[in-house]
Amino acid sequence: MSDLECDVVVVGAGNAAICAALSAREQGASVLVLERAPEEESGGNSRFTAGALRFAYESVDDLVRVVPDLSEEEKANTEFGTYSRDRFFDDMARLTQYRSNPDLLEILVERSLETMVWLREQGVRFLPSFGRQAFKVRGKFRFWGGIVLEARGGGPGLVEALHTAARKKNVNILYETRAHALLFDGERVRGVTVRRAGKTFDIHAKAVVLAAGGFEANAEWRTRYLGPGWDLAKVRGTRFNTGDGIRMALEIGAMPCGNWSGCHAVGWDRNAPDFGDLTVGDQYQKHSYPFGIMVNADGERFVDEGADFRNYTYAKYGRRILEQPGQFAWQVFDAKVTHLLRDEYRIRQVTKAQADTLEELSRKLESVDPEGFLSTVEAYNRAVRTDIPFDPTVKDGRSAEGLPVPKSNWANALDTPPFEAYQVTCGITFTFGGLRIDTQARVLDTDERAIPGLYAAGELVGGLFYFNYPGGTGLMAGAVFGRIAGTSAGRAAAAKAA
Ligand SMILES: Cc1cc2nc3c(=O)[nH]c(=O)nc-3n(C[C@H](O)[C@H](O)[C@H](O)COP(=O)(O)OP(=O)(O)OC[C@H]3O[C@@H](n4cnc5c(N)ncnc54)[C@H](O)[C@@H]3O)c2cc1C
Repeated sequence: MSDLECDVVVVGAGNAAICAALSAREQGASVLVLERAPEEESGGNSRFTAGALRFAYESVDDLVRVVPDLSEEEKANTEFGTYSRDRFFDDMARLTQYRSNPDLLEILVERSLETMVWLREQGVRFLPSFGRQAFKVRGKFRFWGGIVLEARGGGPGLVEALHTAARKKNVNILYETRAHALLFDGERVRGVTVRRAGKTFDIHAKAVVLAAGGFEANAEWRTRYLGPGWDLAKVRGTRFNTGDGIRMALEIGAMPCGNWSGCHAVGWDRNAPDFGDLTVGDQYQKHSYPFGIMVNADGERFVDEGADFRNYTYAKYGRRILEQPGQFAWQVFDAKVTHLLRDEYRIRQVTKAQADTLEELSRKLESVDPEGFLSTVEAYNRAVRTDIPFDPTVKDGRSAEGLPVPKSNWANALDTPPFEAYQVTCGITFTFGGLRIDTQARVLDTDERAIPGLYAAGELVGGLFYFNYPGGTGLMAGAVFGRIAGTSAGRAAAAKAA
């Protein structure tokens, strides 16, 4: 293939990239999307997700704008609650320890609902996330934790819908085409150099949108920036996000920004493959730990499993697991709560132990000190506040107190056989550090000036997430800033053509 030309070139073909491509088309630009992966693996981490999106809504009427086919029965039998803009803003601020860039955060929150409506207009279909984000209480589903909708077909459904929309709107996607460097003349970005089938060529464009993900799949960068031990983490999603987009921008003077030593990482099956497997998707994760305990090789608990709803702790507990001896933990449950375990506990590819007594279980927990485990459980069982009723839909305050590591909510003695245990290690989702953008998604240089012709969205943008992350925000941030980046790039291309 020889050199090509278009108005806007988008690097990546995940959620952020395709939202950018569609938005640039809305401005009348001709758009070319570059995807490093082959078609069947295209769509980046976005394809690996459950397609859960966090957005602000005041009432069921707002949800109906996104899911017009919500049935009367679903409305009558469900407590959707509300998730106000203030709560979304506060959750993000609290979890990121007040470091999230307030200008970007405000845009994320304020545009979240309208972006859901826009995604629907593009052909993405949504449904209530009954299975993962609601529990049945007295015959009614009650949602908890700020997420109510997921894309139909999960991440694969979301990506397919976006790619279909792109094809319909004449956005050309070049697969197995890896962007390698930005064409930069010292003043503005004029395209990209790519490699495809062993050949290198240039694509000339009036504007470039970088949406090529973070550096989570790059073991060397992980160790360099996240720290020792991170080379040992499993990658939950795509093997193609190795930091290319970030590197290309830094090479022409872009400003690094955000929590470069931070990332989203979760409890992930100990024997999962090194990178994500699309046939299993996100199901190697094990996210029902709030209803049990987690122990390390010494048989000791090391986190407050019930500190908050799963949506507000899961993304930081992967790091805590990585810090344990041997980089693993066992999650332990008894029969009182196994009906609450998420679907991911029932897959075939699971590392599991089961026993009718705690003594028997202690011998089955591979690489764990049995005596340490038994004394941990004994102390924990004694510490449970049985005077407070257990309720998984609220932070019930049913705690285990007076322990070296307390448990703040949902504590239940482990006393009802059969006992089940699941072994996890650290699975990295995505990295938090990246490029600095302004409110128009323009990439800023180290003098804080916008680099003409360069825009960015998605995981490779730094400054939104620090330390932790509220579930469902990655896709929303990618969609909101993808739209802004595509619109800005499309307008810049039109202005340049005029
Ligand atoms: C298992 C799992 C479950 C998740 N579940 C959820 C969830 O339910 N809700 C949620 O909000 N978030 C979830 N996330 C996080 C979410 O996936 C990301 O935040 C989001 O998808 C990032 O979108 P993106 O477009 O920035 O990156 P990606 O979707 O990863 O897209 C990056 C794209 O860039 C391409 N690329 C990389 N380098 C190059 C190059 N040099 N040239 C060309 N192309 C390149 C990649 O192939 C890919 O297509 C999950 C992540 C994982 C891994």
